[in-house]
Amino acid sequence: MHRVQYIKAVAPVSSKRGGSLPVAAPENPEDLEDPEDPEHPLITILHADITTLPVDAIVNAANSALAGGGGVDGAIHAAAGPELAAELRRYPGCPTGSAVITKGYRLPARFVIHAVGPIWRGGDHREAELLTSAYDTSFKLAREEGSIRTIAFPAISTGVYGFPKARAAEIALASMRTHEHEFDDITACLFDESSADLYRQTLARRKQP
Ligand code: ADP
Repeated sequence: MHRVQYIKAVAPVSSKRGGSLPVAAPENPEDLEDPEDPEHPLITILHADITTLPVDAIVNAANSALAGGGGVDGAIHAAAGPELAAELRRYPGCPTGSAVITKGYRLPARFVIHAVGPIWRGGDHREAELLTSAYDTSFKLAREEGSIRTIAFPAISTGVYGFPKARAAEIALASMRTHEHEFDDITACLFDESSADLYRQTLARRKQP
């Protein structure tokens, strides 16, 4: 099976203000080991800035106007260049739970899939179903594109949209497990180490009967 090599690289994490926060090299050699979960060899959990990943497609946590915004959306637009917003202007918008695909322009990734997750409104407004749909639709578009073998996701809806992180991690990983055999590698790209830990624990827990 093809494995992407960036897994073992120490990826820089950019701050939201645009500065660069170099991540120190791990002192413990075990930290350099492949973080691949033996039970789920196609799911990689990575602490990194998603705009740096040399995968076929990255997923964006977009808003329904596809207008660009803050957080990961702002970082992706800044790294891709203005052509990305120009291509998105062809769309009238995108309903919550759905997604659209564009080229990646100046990103290392060839494609960006703009998925619209739900805003958390207490949990009784189909938020879980809509978040599942945002992940599943992203996988569907990636598969339909035909040449996408590696794909990376941020933690959709867990920033300004306020979705509780633990529940969002369960939903994200459940969708990734459903689709893992359709791709060579699926990366869950987390912007902070505590979220990466949460994903590792959630993936490990799901293995238990
Ligand atoms: P949403 O509006 O869907 O909540 P946000 O962009 O506010 O989207 O946050 C979604 C997640 O993306 C958050 O967990 C945030 O920490 C993370 N994030 C922000 N910037 C990046 C980045 N450059 N790479 C990966 N993840 C990021």
